[in-house]
Amino acid sequence: MRDVIHKNLEQVHDNIKAACARSGRKPEDITLIAVSKTKPLGDLQEAYRCGERVFGENKVQEIALKQPQMPEDTCFHMIGHLQRNKVRQVLPLVSMIHSVDSFRLAQEIQQEAERLGRIVDILLEVNVAGEESKFGFAPEEVIHILQKIHEFSHIHVCGLMTIAPFVENSEQNRPVFKKLFQLYVDIKHKNIDNVNMSVLSMGMTGDYEVAVEEGATMIRVGTGIFGVR
Ligand SMILES: *Cc1c(COP(=O)(O)O)cnc(C)c1O
Repeated sequence: MRDVIHKNLEQVHDNIKAACARSGRKPEDITLIAVSKTKPLGDLQEAYRCGERVFGENKVQEIALKQPQMPEDTCFHMIGHLQRNKVRQVLPLVSMIHSVDSFRLAQEIQQEAERLGRIVDILLEVNVAGEESKFGFAPEEVIHILQKIHEFSHIHVCGLMTIAPFVENSEQNRPVFKKLFQLYVDIKHKNIDNVNMSVLSMGMTGDYEVAVEEGATMIRVGTGIFGVR
């Protein structure tokens, strides 16, 4: 398994470089989030040895088990749907929440962050394709929500995140990524206080190369690094 993770990571980094070369981007502008949900600690440690520092998880309970056992310079990002009653537990464990999908969740994060005396980096999750089964704001809602969230003193909105549809051919998701990039640029140009659009989290194992070509700054890759779950 160790060799496999090492090889997979080399492949993913090569693919990122190639996608950057095709689109005139710089590999250092893209952060790979190693999505380690359901995987044992030994797999995370191996990825750490290979140089990875940012891990994505979708369950608070799992982050609570893994985070204390990893070296101090490891970061965990919460990428899954977050219940409001788990906010207090997760905040001290993560450096970013990608999956803020309701105003009430943002409110809860603000309250708990204020209690901790910390400013929390978040992304707003956008359901670009309007899938019933997915969480996230409709693209048309995002600016309105930002105008409410930007008043929260202990939340720093860093950008947008989307989970693109499951497709056979990654090209099918190109329009989804283009649309989120456009929204990201539109918001950037509005210069809303406390909102600093610098992160665009999109692309998973099946489509991260297309996402990089379309402007992703964070990609979330699980299967492509750690194998099937
Ligand atoms: C599981 C997950 C991923 C990684 O998916 P892979 O297809 O295994 O790369 C990325 N983002 C989110 C939000 C996830 O839940």
